[in-house]
Order: sequence, then structure tokens, then C-alpha cells
Amino acid sequence: MQITGYKSQGVAAAVDLVNAVTTVEGDASFAALREILRVNGFFWHEFEERDAEPLRRWGRTLREFFDAAELETAVSLLNELMLELPMHPHLADHDPHGLHLHFAPPTARLPHRFRASTLMQLSELVVQHGLGRTGTCAAEGCDRVYADTSRAGRRRFCSEACANRTNVAAFRARRRTPRTPEGTG
Ligand SMILES: [Zn+2]
Repeated sequence: MQITGYKSQGVAAAVDLVNAVTTVEGDASFAALREILRVNGFFWHEFEERDAEPLRRWGRTLREFFDAAELETAVSLLNELMLELPMHPHLADHDPHGLHLHFAPPTARLPHRFRASTLMQLSELVVQHGLGRTGTCAAEGCDRVYADTSRAGRRRFCSEACANRTNVAAFRARRRTPRTPEGTG
């Protein structure tokens, strides 16, 4: 499975949506949601006011996936959602992606297509990596989620900012720890 390029866009879109609608500092406004669709290569110009609430609901549903501590929990959630969502795989060939799979019926509206893509691509990620590439940010006080699409796959933070903040805090904590000179304790 490709975890970069077009096929990972559903994963990145899922992360963006979950962070927008389920975190303290997230922005779940219509404009913010439309921007998520745009940057992740979805047909954002089809996005209408009535699509916003279904998308927010989907973000709250997918949060459970990122929060799942056990693979079994994540798998049964994905399975349940795949049974609920009408799928209709077909090949599409539109710019700029080239030939690729769509999972929702061609007549489906944007929220349905978005649900199908994110669901299938998260499922592919789980097939390939279990829960090793997704999770909630390890930084203290951060409630954002992440997906790691890098080759190394060692990511634990939602952002560079959180990684740096945590490293600095750990460094300071080490410096604060009093050291007893050897032989005097
Ligand atoms: Zn974070």
C-alpha cells in the first residue's frame, strides 16, 4: 500500500477533520471544514452548508478510532462503519490524481464520498500497520490526533511544536534533578 500521495489523502483528511471537531482549539466552522476538503484534494467547491453537520458527526465518530487503545477495538469500529456505509467501488480518472479508486457510488454527495474515502484508507493503513501509525499526541495537554505516513513511522506527536515542547520539558526536568556525586551517598 502507498502511504504517501493520493492514497494517504483520506488518512490526512481524517486527521484534520478529527482535530477540527473534537479538540479544544479545533475550528469546526464551515470555512474551516471547506479548507480541510480543499487541502486534502476533495471536491471542496461542492461543499454546502447542509454538509457541515454530517461532516462534524463523522469527525466525532472517527475520533473513536484514533483513541482506540486496542487493535481489536479499532477493527470492530471500522467494520461496523463499513457495514453501515453504502459502498460502491469504481475507478475514477480525474485531475490531478490520475486513475484511482473511489468507494462511494458516483452519484453520492460529498459527505458520503468523504466518509467512504477516509474509512477505506484508514482501514488500509490498519491492514498494513495495525495501530502503529495513528494515535493521540503524546505531548502533555494536547488532545490532537495524528497519522504517521513517513517511512520510518516513529511519530508520536501531532506537530513539530508539540514534539519540541515535550523535548524541552524533558531536558529541563533532567537538569533540575539533583545529582549526588559518586561515593558520597
Ligand atoms: Zn500535540
